[in-house]
Amino acid sequence: AEIPTAAISRLVTYLRILEHLELQDVSRTSSNDLAERAGVSAFQVRKDLAYFGRFGTRGMGYTVPILKRELVRVLGLNRSWNVVIVGMGRLGQAIANYPGASDYQFQYVGLFDVSPGVVGQQVRGLTVGHMTDLPEFTQLNPVDMGFLAVPPERAQDAAQALVDAGVKGILNFAPTVIQPRAAERPGLQDISDEWRGVIVENVDFLAGMKRLAFYILNPHLKDAPAP
Ligand code: NAD
Repeated sequence: AEIPTAAISRLVTYLRILEHLELQDVSRTSSNDLAERAGVSAFQVRKDLAYFGRFGTRGMGYTVPILKRELVRVLGLNRSWNVVIVGMGRLGQAIANYPGASDYQFQYVGLFDVSPGVVGQQVRGLTVGHMTDLPEFTQLNPVDMGFLAVPPERAQDAAQALVDAGVKGILNFAPTVIQPRAAERPGLQDISDEWRGVIVENVDFLAGMKRLAFYILNPHLKDAPAP
C-alpha cells in the first residue's frame, strides 16, 4: 500500500520529538502527547505509526527509547549514508559546513564543482573535485545520495551525471524539475533504465515563501498544519 509523503514527514517530526524527550529523560509518551507536540491529532499519530507496525501497548502508550529506535530503523537512519554534494557555491558550501547531518550517519564523502575557482578548495577536510572525476570517484567509493546545488540550468545534466554514476537518491535544491529520462532521449515517456529506482526530493525555500504568501492571503484555505 502507498504511504502518504506527509506521513513520512510526520515520522521525521515524531523522531525529533522523541529525541527531545529522551534528552529530557522522559521515558514514556502517548499518541496524545506526541500529537500535541507535533500539532496533529492522536488519530493521525496512531495511523502514521500503524503503517509500520505496532509499537505501543494499548492504554500504556510508548516507551520513548523503543519508539525512537523503531522510527530510526523505519527511516533507515541506523545505517550510514554516503553523500556527495554537486555544486560548491554559496549553498553547497553552507550545506557542507552545516554540522547537523552528522547527528545521523550522513557522511559527506565527496564535493564536486566545475569552476576552476572552486575545484581544489578544501572544505571540511575534503578537497573539491571536478565533475569529470565523479564516475571514477563513485567506482572507488560507494555513494548513496547526491545533493544538487548547481544553477537551475545545469541541474538536469548534473542529475544525469549523478545517476550515471549510480547514485540512487538526489536531494535537489535547484528550482527546477528533474526529469527522470536519459538526456539523449528527451521527450520519451518511459523512464530509462538507469533512472529506475532513483528517488528525487526537492527542497526549495523560495517555494515555501510563495506558499506562505498564498496562505497569508487565504488563511481559510489552509488544511491541517503539516509539521
Ligand atoms: P552559486 O552560483 O553560488 O553556486 C553554484 C555552483 O555550482 C558554482 O560553484 C558553480 O561553479 C557550480 N556548477 C555549475 N555547473 C555545475 C555542474 N554542471 N556541475 C557541478 N557544479 C556546477 O549558486 P548558489 O547560490 O549556491 O545556488 C545554487 C543552487 O541552489 C541554485 O540553483 C539556487 O537557485 C539554489 N538555491 C536553492 C535554495 C533552496 O532553498 N532550495 C536556496 C538557495 C539557492
